[in-house]
Amino acid sequence: FIAKDFNNELDRFRGLRSESKQLIANLQAQYQKHTDIDKLKISYNNVLGYFVEVPAKKADPLMIRKGEENSADNPFIHRQTMASAVRFTTAELAELERDITSANEKALGIELELFTQMKSDIAACANYIGRYANALAQLDVMASLATLATELNYTRPKIDNSCEFNIEGGRHPVVEAALRATSAGDEFIPNDCNLGDAQKLWLLTGPNMAGKSTFLRQNALIAILAQIGSFVPAQAAHIGVIDKVFSRVGASDDLAKGRSTFMVEMVETASILNQATDRSLVILDEIGRGTATFDGLSIAWACVEHIHDINKCRALFATHYHELTKLTTKLDTLSCHSMAVKEWKGEIVFMHSVQAGSADRSYGIHVAKLAGLPPAVIDRAKDVLSRLQKSEQSGTLAKLADDLPLFSAMAEKAQEEYEAAQPSELETKLAAINPDDLSPREALEILYSLKNT
Ligand code: ADP
Repeated sequence: FIAKDFNNELDRFRGLRSESKQLIANLQAQYQKHTDIDKLKISYNNVLGYFVEVPAKKADPLMIRKGEENSADNPFIHRQTMASAVRFTTAELAELERDITSANEKALGIELELFTQMKSDIAACANYIGRYANALAQLDVMASLATLATELNYTRPKIDNSCEFNIEGGRHPVVEAALRATSAGDEFIPNDCNLGDAQKLWLLTGPNMAGKSTFLRQNALIAILAQIGSFVPAQAAHIGVIDKVFSRVGASDDLAKGRSTFMVEMVETASILNQATDRSLVILDEIGRGTATFDGLSIAWACVEHIHDINKCRALFATHYHELTKLTTKLDTLSCHSMAVKEWKGEIVFMHSVQAGSADRSYGIHVAKLAGLPPAVIDRAKDVLSRLQKSEQSGTLAKLADDLPLFSAMAEKAQEEYEAAQPSELETKLAAINPDDLSPREALEILYSLKNT
C-alpha cells in the first residue's frame, strides 16, 4: 500500500524480491544443464516451499546413495516421491528461499512502519485538518450559494428588525428547476407574498394541484435562505428577522410508532400553536384534512383564530375549507388569497398565480377527472355534490361565522395556556448552554447566575 519511489529501503527489498525470481530462473537453467534433464523445473508450494522437480523416470541419478553425501556433483536432497515426479531441494535453493521470504517480510515491515508513522503524523495535526476541513466546507457552501445566486438570478434580501415579510416575484427553487428539466420546459410562475402588519395571516384557497403547497414552501425556503446569509429566489425581498420557521405540510405518518397520519398532523399543529411567537413564520398546509369534514373544519377554524389572536405570527394557511374565508369579517389581519384557475371548454387550467380573494369552488371533481377516475364515478360525484350543496348543511356552514361568538371572548384562557406553554427564563438560559464548551470555572459562574434567576 505504499507507492514505489517513496522509500529507498522499501524499494531495495522489493527489488531483491523480483531479483530473486530471476535468480531462481537462472538456477533452474543451471540445474537443467548440470543434470541434462530438460524437464527439470523449480516450483513452489505452501508445504515444501521452493523445490526442484524432475520426471520420475529421470530421478534416479539424482538420488544420493550412502557415502555420496555432500558431494559437489550431486547437490540434490530428496524430499518427496510421487507417481510421475520426484522432488528435491538443494542448499542453494533453500538459501535463496530464505532471502526471498525475508525480503518479503522486511518490505511488509517497512510498509507497516511507514503507515503507523503516517497515522501518528495525521493524529498530531488532526486539529488543523479539522479546522481546514471546516473552513473548506464553509467556503463550499458559500461558493455554492453564490453560484446559485448568479446562475439562477437570485436577489439580495433586505433584512431588518421590522415585522415585514414582503416577497416580490418569489420562486420555489426546486420546483422551478424541476419544471425546466421537463420536456415541455414549463416556466415557473413567480408570486408575491406580503405578510405586512395589516395582513399577517393569509388564508390560501384553491383546487388541488393549483400550487398552494409550492407557494407555502417557497416562502418558508426564502425566509431560511435569507437568514443563512444567502441571496433568495425572488425579484425583491424584505424580511423582518424571524425567530423560527414552523411548518406543517404533507402527509407523513409514523405508523410504526403507533401514530396515525392525523395524529402526526395534530401533534405538529399543537407544537406550532404552543410555540410560535409574533416573530415566527408559520406555514400550515391543509390542517384538519385527515378527519371527518366537520371535525376538520372545526379544528382548522379554531387554529386560524388562535394563530390570529394569540400567536400573532406571520402565517400562510392553505385550506380547502372555503367556509374559513368568512372569518375575514371578524379577524383584522386575516387576508384571503387564492390560486387563479381558468375554466376553458369545461376543463380547468391552473394559472399557478396567487390572487387576492377566495376561491369560489374547490374543483376537486375536475382534478379527479384529470387523474383518470372512471366517467361514471365522476358523474355520480357531480350529482352527489349538487345535492349536498343544496342541502341544509352548507347553508348552516355559511352562517357559522356570523353566529359563533368571537374567539376573543375566550381568548384570555387561550392566552394563559399559551403563556404556560412557553419555556421559562430559566429553561431558555439552560437550553442555550452547551456543557461541553465550558471550563469548570465558567460552569460554576453560570450556576451562580442561574441560581439568581
Ligand atoms: P397544491 O398544493 O395546490 O395541490 P402543488 O403546490 O402541489 O399544488 O402544485 C402542483 C404542481 O403544480 C407542482 O408540482 C408544479 O408542477 C406546479 N406548480 C406549482 N406552482 C407553480 C408555479 N408557481 N409555476 C408553475 N408551476 C407550478
